[in-house]
This record gives sequence, C-alpha cells and structure tokens, in this order.
Amino acid sequence: MNSNPNNPTLKTRENLIDWLKDAHAMEQQAIEILEKQRDRLENYPEAKIRIAQHVEESKKQAERVASCIEMLDGGASTMKDTIGKVSGNISAMMNAMATDEVVKNAIANYSFEHFEIACYKSLIEAAREVGEDHVARVCEQNLNEEIEMAKWCEQNLPIITKEFLHRDEMDSETAKR
Ligand code: MG
Ligand code: FE
Repeated sequence: MNSNPNNPTLKTRENLIDWLKDAHAMEQQAIEILEKQRDRLENYPEAKIRIAQHVEESKKQAERVASCIEMLDGGASTMKDTIGKVSGNISAMMNAMATDEVVKNAIANYSFEHFEIACYKSLIEAAREVGEDHVARVCEQNLNEEIEMAKWCEQNLPIITKEFLHRDEMDSETAKR
C-alpha cells in the first residue's frame, strides 16, 4: 500500500513488519513444539522444568512481538500463525514417533534456539535502521532469553545423550521420554 521506491525508509519499515510477523509465527511454533515436549517428558525432570520455563518465556516473547506489530501497523495479520502452528505440530509429532525422541528433541531444540537468535539479531538491525529503538529493545529482550536457552541446550545435549544411552540399555520405553 505504501511501497515507495524513492523512500527506502518505508520499504525498510515494511520489511521490519514482515520480519516481526515471521518472528511471531516462529514463537507460535516454538510454543506448540515445547508444550508437546513438556507434556510428554516423564523421566527427564530437569529438562521438563527448563522446557516448561521456556514455554512461558516464549508466550511472553510472542506477546512482545505482537505488541510491536500492533504499534507499527495497527493490526497484526494472523495468516502466518496458522501456517506456523501446522508445521510446528508436524515436526513435534515426527519426533514423538522416534524411539530416541528425547535426543531428537534435544538436537532440534539446539538448532531452533540458534535459529531464533539469528532472527532476533537480524530484526534488531532492521529496527535500528528505521530508528525504531523500542522495537530493537524488545527484540533484545527476546534475544537474551534465546541466548540463555541456547546455552542450556548446548550444555544439556551431551547430558541427555548419555542418559538416554544408559537408560536405553535397560528399558527403551522409559529412555525415549
Ligand atoms: Mg523464542
Ligand atoms: Fe526460544
């Protein structure tokens, strides 16, 4: 509607809004996947607690991103949310069918958190480019939580892997989740 090739700021604002919508869809997907993991985990209590915590963080992140979209364009589109939810459910389901579910999830979470870090770093740059410092700060808040979660994923991956392998020697049903 307001695309103007002679005004790079307008175009950049459009990109910023698009990327915020992508980030919102990404958080919806994160919530779906992590809620499923939280609910299925039985024998890895520490992972269950940390994942439950990040579900709550992700809900707040989604709200923060939504408020930025609202502020910039006065009404968020929900199109991408639906798409994100569907694909989130599919990948959560696929991992739930694996006999090494807990390890598959640990690997997926490790990469997903790093994907989120990259998205927020890019968003922060875009927000600064158009002088939307408030949006940049909101994205920094989300970024910091993703960095913390990514660190936990990194520390947790070898622990979960070892624990799974040891449990799997005894009982593969309790080992997988
Ligand atoms: Mg997130
Ligand atoms: Fe995250």
